[in-house]
Amino acid sequence: MLQCKPPIIVRDFATALGMKPFKLISELMEMGIFASMTQSLDEAVAVKVGEKHGFILEVKHRGEAAPQPTPKDKEAEKKKKADEEETKNLLPRPPVVCILGHVDHGKTSLLDAIRKAHVAAGEAGGITQHIGAYQVDHNGKKITFLDTPGHAAFNKMRARGASATDIAVLVIAADDGFMPQTDEALKHIQNAGVTLMVAVNKMDVKGANLDQVKAQMQQRNSAPEDWGGEIITVPVSAIKGTGVNELLEMILLQADVLELKANPKGEVAGLIIESQFEVGRGPMATVIVQRGTLRTGDALLCGAQWCKVRAMFDDQGKTVKEAGPATPVRVIGWSGTPESGATFKAVKSAREAENLAEEEEQRLRKEATTAAAVPKDISVASLFAEIAATQQKTLKLIVKTDVFGSAEAVRTVLEGIKSTKVQLEIVSVEVGLITKNDVLMASTSSSVVVGFNTKLENGVTPLAKHHNVRIETFGIIYEMGDKVREMMADLLDPDLKEVKLGAAEVRATFPLAKGFVAGCLVTEGKVTRNATARLRRGKEIVYEGKVATLKRFKDDANEVRAGLECGIKLDDFNGYNVGDVIEVFEIQQVRAAR
Ligand code: GDP
Repeated sequence: MLQCKPPIIVRDFATALGMKPFKLISELMEMGIFASMTQSLDEAVAVKVGEKHGFILEVKHRGEAAPQPTPKDKEAEKKKKADEEETKNLLPRPPVVCILGHVDHGKTSLLDAIRKAHVAAGEAGGITQHIGAYQVDHNGKKITFLDTPGHAAFNKMRARGASATDIAVLVIAADDGFMPQTDEALKHIQNAGVTLMVAVNKMDVKGANLDQVKAQMQQRNSAPEDWGGEIITVPVSAIKGTGVNELLEMILLQADVLELKANPKGEVAGLIIESQFEVGRGPMATVIVQRGTLRTGDALLCGAQWCKVRAMFDDQGKTVKEAGPATPVRVIGWSGTPESGATFKAVKSAREAENLAEEEEQRLRKEATTAAAVPKDISVASLFAEIAATQQKTLKLIVKTDVFGSAEAVRTVLEGIKSTKVQLEIVSVEVGLITKNDVLMASTSSSVVVGFNTKLENGVTPLAKHHNVRIETFGIIYEMGDKVREMMADLLDPDLKEVKLGAAEVRATFPLAKGFVAGCLVTEGKVTRNATARLRRGKEIVYEGKVATLKRFKDDANEVRAGLECGIKLDDFNGYNVGDVIEVFEIQQVRAAR
């Protein structure tokens, strides 16, 4: 028995039935009812749907006896209690900051300058580890910086980085001002709803023009504070280290305004910053805890990956036992490399984590196969398109990279390669060494294995040779892009190009035992045996074929140059006239344009 009160809203009704709202919507569609999440349902319809799911629906109208608390009410009550508990335990936490901006405007230099001058107190002397994030201590307060690579191809990750952060510092070089990537970064920041601050860098260079940058900010409706706007703007020089303290001060001030808080006692949840596979240590991931306190031994779930935290290290490479909100740590003990930008949460036990991860993996696999099995539309046009597609050449790639960041960068570069004649199919992009398994996969799927910043496992080379699998490794992303383009072009049937070798004029015809031979004078270039030839009579082409016989006097010749006489016979052709011109060509193969 299920009790409900009108209006029966789709979303609530689905919850009451214990099903996902979109599932209910699709069921309704099958019944010919098109309802949105927030629409109310007809009583009769609701009763019918309820029956289908084994519920007898009792609709209580106003004035009737008060309904018993539904499971939904109980849940809401529980949630309210949890929320209250959460609010009680909230404590201030450090801000998470990322630095964005145009290439060469000094993001890396600024991150380095901040890091060098302000390693967390007492930590000096530690060995700096680039783990994708670090924390500094300024006047007794902590700030967490995301230290993601500044390469243009990392845009995608930066876009994610921006949404993982509280404050984004947009770096603008004082001499260059706004550049295309500055605008792009500004858009990312605004879309992500993150607090914007501006660091005008390179104040030390000649031609630095702070006012010009401020004017450009104003033009973009992001006027600096001292110009009556809202954006805190700090002039700095990353190279000289000037202004860095002020910048940190302003970040902390802004963080105060934002009243950033988290519950260190809550259930652990956080974000993957980057992940990589390290030989000897296995998969590891840099994470930022967003809620709760992460401890060694905790069991974590992140999509299809799970982790029993074996050890944690900070950005100095030191072992830590626990990490609270906004603290970046590198965690080892993962089943695989989780995706950067993904969220993770703690679960009760490693066993549960493993089971849930496996379920997720199976779900993903099923999703992939059902997506492939969706019936195709078989209109004539689509049939033709399909035929064309099967005739289209495809270059398949199996990609391995060192860290997740590079995997995304490589994917971005590869996806950016466009061609109408050759399709580029990325079979997989994974983090780790190139293994024998990759070779076997490449062999069955006719793929090329591409490695970026990664090495080959022992025994991979002979196996690849045996299976005739091509492996290409790169250390520079653009070289990889160029090579892939080249491989795509190689797949195309080469364009054939006719190159004229020479011409000869028919001066006489001589009878042979069978047929005739043309007595010629080579008038330009050369005539070679077996070359392709065309016999022209005035404008008309009389015959096309091969130079079957080429003679100098009585002897066979391989080639005869301009100014010399020779006898030519084209295949079995016999109809030569005096005055005909025999043009001779060579067919050359040239690499087709993609
Ligand atoms: P990114 O591409 O934004 O990470 O920029 P980098 O940090 O790599 O800096 C690009 C170039 O600008 C490097 O040659 C730096 O030495 C230089 N640079 C960065 N900051 C400053 C600065 O404050 N003053 C001067 N004069 N040069 C700087």
